[in-house]
Amino acid sequence: MAFTLPPLPYAYDALEPAIDKETMTIHHGKHHQAYVDKLNDAVAADASLADHSIEDLLAGISKLPKAVRNNGGGHWNHSLFWELLAPAGQGGEPSAELAAAIDADLGGMEKFQADFNAAGAAQFGSGWAWLIVQDGKLKVTSTPNQDNPLMDVADEQGAVVLGADVWEHAYYLKYQNRRPDYLKAFWGIVNWNKANELYAAAKG
Ligand code: MN
Repeated sequence: MAFTLPPLPYAYDALEPAIDKETMTIHHGKHHQAYVDKLNDAVAADASLADHSIEDLLAGISKLPKAVRNNGGGHWNHSLFWELLAPAGQGGEPSAELAAAIDADLGGMEKFQADFNAAGAAQFGSGWAWLIVQDGKLKVTSTPNQDNPLMDVADEQGAVVLGADVWEHAYYLKYQNRRPDYLKAFWGIVNWNKANELYAAAKG
């Protein structure tokens, strides 16, 4: 079973002005498609990789080819990222459970957002900022390249609740070098309904 590009769950211009239509069109249709295509090439080249879920591949990524790490991570990260965004006003609010955990584990929403943005801004080169559940508690972390907290190579492993792509391809057309401005705008288009679902599953 080949991996496929999931359709974007909203129109390419639906996240404007936070993320512009051209960025979304290229990001989804070119960058994510390329991760899918190269992941399929890498899996097709090694019979032992056939018929594994993407999550299975990521969990044992230290033993797999670099092309699977880069492109499998790219495919999983982007598939989730599209779902973690929603047009402004349509993403709901943090659930009572998630909000309580942000207060208890991360010092409240304001400090959490500042720490998340700092993690994204401080990630050297390309990568991702994450909110994860680790040993039952929320934690803010980041990964380089297309790594993620599901990978056995990640410094901080856990279940993802929220993530932000901080590769330049995610923001450069509109924000140029101003990654912090992009991260600030990110909070206006977070799909909290999806984050709530992921948090409940991680705690379940
Ligand atoms: Mn990306």
